Amino acid sequence: MTAVPHQQIDPAVSAFLAKPRGHWIDNKVVAGQGGKVAVYDPARAEVIAEVPDGTSAEVDAAVAAARRALEGEWAAARPADREAMLYRLSELIAAHGEELAQLETLNQGKSIMMSRMLEVGHSVEFTRYMAGWATKIEGSTLDLSLAFPPGVRYRGMTVREPVGVVGAVIPWNFPLIMAVWKIAPALACGCTVVLKPAEETPLTALRLAELCAEAGIPAGVVNVITGRGETTGAALVSHPGIDKVAFTGSTEVGKKIGHAAIDNMTRFSLELGGKSPVIMLEDVPVEMAVGGSAMSIFFNQGQVCTAGSRLYVQKRIFDDVVGALGQAASAMTVGSGFDPNNQINPLVSERQQKRVCGYINQGLAAGARAIAGGGPGDGPGYFVKPTVLVDVDHSMSVVQEEIFGPVVVAMPFDDLDDVAKRANDTVYGLGASIWSNDMGKVMSLIPRIKAGTVWVNTHNMIDPNMPFGGFKQSGYGREMGRAAIDLYTETKSVCIAY
Ligand code: NAD
Repeated sequence: MTAVPHQQIDPAVSAFLAKPRGHWIDNKVVAGQGGKVAVYDPARAEVIAEVPDGTSAEVDAAVAAARRALEGEWAAARPADREAMLYRLSELIAAHGEELAQLETLNQGKSIMMSRMLEVGHSVEFTRYMAGWATKIEGSTLDLSLAFPPGVRYRGMTVREPVGVVGAVIPWNFPLIMAVWKIAPALACGCTVVLKPAEETPLTALRLAELCAEAGIPAGVVNVITGRGETTGAALVSHPGIDKVAFTGSTEVGKKIGHAAIDNMTRFSLELGGKSPVIMLEDVPVEMAVGGSAMSIFFNQGQVCTAGSRLYVQKRIFDDVVGALGQAASAMTVGSGFDPNNQINPLVSERQQKRVCGYINQGLAAGARAIAGGGPGDGPGYFVKPTVLVDVDHSMSVVQEEIFGPVVVAMPFDDLDDVAKRANDTVYGLGASIWSNDMGKVMSLIPRIKAGTVWVNTHNMIDPNMPFGGFKQSGYGREMGRAAIDLYTETKSVCIAY
């Protein structure tokens, strides 16, 4: 394993880590009064920072700041002002790109290339895209047929208003991207935000909040409160001062959050887990099938909500594709994300490493066979070898449950009926991919797959302009594109008699 050479760390990252850590409320660092949460470098299993474990009083203070901003200076900002501020934020993310990328790799573990290209690159483009929406929100005028009283005519219109104070709770797999996915559309729509990052990965969200202030976004519009999910997160999502909960995370926690939100009739959207099928039809060249399957599952160490964790390969090419995939997985280099040559980097935490290895062991105990990987990589970091399991039964936990690690189960299928049935045979419905150049077959499969996104000859591709979300237990609501505007606005109908 390659350790992180200290001299390569950007001085801005060291300076940020050396500063006293607190919550970010009203554009100021606010010290926590409760306990602390240790933040790790998962490649070395070392503590790199501590953040406050937010108390309910601290959540109250953040929500109050967001409410003051919503009803004060932020309400007075014109759409063009919001657009300009978000645009400045995108420029600042780009200008501080190397610092943010290094901070992310240090704390999350992912490849520095992915941090640069995706965490930073996508965040810049997404924020810029959402900046544009601030000036394009519209309602409609409506012809009305009301008949009474005689002689009176009516005109209706709809107006989009900001939904209000947003409580956003996000996971640790793409920490910076998840933060901008919540903050940018909320601000474009005129909302204010209290964001709780995952306890494992709070650092880039805290740095992003500083950049929001530098972009001229007024105090109280973006607040970040750190802490654990079951305490700080639960206090935020059940807070009566929150108008909307925007959650990304596991289905298990998403259900709890939905229940908590409905008690206050708080609006909510849930982006949850997945167990996405990758379907390789027999016309796909073996090399393409292997590259596509590997990219679908091993990207970000499989810690991707749409990870292609169930691979269905048509019988005629199954042995060739899966054999070559096993060889490719066994040859992957495992090590620190700071060495761009490493293809598999650590998982985010020891807890996640144990969880993933626990699933692998369950699969092996139930009769599955590992043709690659099958357990942890060399420590001290939280590595798991890229793993390909075969001889699985569809009822096994490794086939049905989200593992969220570099583990794929590979299964042969006979025909389109067989694969459509099995692709839909989990509680999830987030993503799916179909690989083939036989467009007749592809087009007949697309409507049969119950998933929020179906990719064809690609996987895991997410664009700011394409709605994203889940069918079934993978979520509620759609992010991205115009759909994001629906999430962060209320529709008001106006009826004018004249
Ligand atoms: P998680 O559900 O354990 O935690 C997510 C967030 O919720 C964290 O900030 C956590 O602190 C907080 N939380 C935990 N319990 C809470 C509670 N009772 N009340 C309020 N907040 C609480 O998920 P995770 O392990 O951090 O992330 C992995 C999960 O996220 C996977 O299931 C993955 O599929 C999902 N995910 C979904 C998408 C999507 O867009 N659909 C994207 C990324 C990740």
